[in-house]
Amino acid sequence: MELLTIPGQQQGKVWLVGAGPGDVELLTLKAYRILKKADVVLYDALVSDEIMALVPQDAEKIAVGKRAGKHSAAQDEINQLLVTKAFTRKNVVRLKGGDPFIFGRGGEELETLVDAGVEFEVIPGITAASGTSAYAGIPLTHRDYAQGVSFITGHCKLESRPMDWAGYANKQNTLVIYMGILNANIIQAGLMGAGRAADTPVAIVSKATTASQQCFIGTLGELEQLAASPALQMPALMIIGEVVTLREQLNWFNPAQSSTDVISAALLK
Ligand code: SAH
Repeated sequence: MELLTIPGQQQGKVWLVGAGPGDVELLTLKAYRILKKADVVLYDALVSDEIMALVPQDAEKIAVGKRAGKHSAAQDEINQLLVTKAFTRKNVVRLKGGDPFIFGRGGEELETLVDAGVEFEVIPGITAASGTSAYAGIPLTHRDYAQGVSFITGHCKLESRPMDWAGYANKQNTLVIYMGILNANIIQAGLMGAGRAADTPVAIVSKATTASQQCFIGTLGELEQLAASPALQMPALMIIGEVVTLREQLNWFNPAQSSTDVISAALLK
């Protein structure tokens, strides 16, 4: 795609910022500082309202988010919009859920900025895997159960880029699957077909780190069924592996008593 640039005009800078998984207090201080001076914020659907409330009132706020199946703006349009804003505004924030470099297309957006000669910085965020793990009481590694962890996408393009099921079947490795709910049947069959046991513990955690967090616990053999639970809301993440059993002892977070919706933007100002 041809990029439009406006020669001769003073350029702004783009901050690619991770907003964390939901709880407003999981935002970094750096992200907070940059948000407060934003002239324009292009944000995803996953960014919570509490975090958007921190953006100055007079800043331009543009929703460019995507939700499974619903594309509110094509990636090319987002890339182009970032470049255009960088040529017309001073502080441009591209705000993404979690961490911008984990299933966030942050890299693609930055490549466009590089091509257009736009200056940028990246501010990491707490990715959904870390937020979910902490707030569901499921350590992703543990000396007795898992020596490693993989973050993988369960997105629908599975056929064009086949999944390495044999690699993911390792019992000593925890799997965290982003965007996998709609493909739970494929994931279940793929892992079990590669030898991961049907009784492997799994957790599906929805709206993690928020007052609406819910945990659905079961086994790999029940994954498709769990993912179809009528009560399950998006976004949701799957954690697969023996570490899920640790939740019985380590589950500390009580969403009903969570202060996430009480800690208002006012406290942070
Ligand atoms: N860049 C983001 C991930 C974007 S992909 C990050 O680092 O977290 C979107 C997927 O992230 C969702 O389909 C879901 O699997 C997961 N996700 C994001 N926020 C979540 C939350 N609060 N609870 C559970 N899963 C979440």
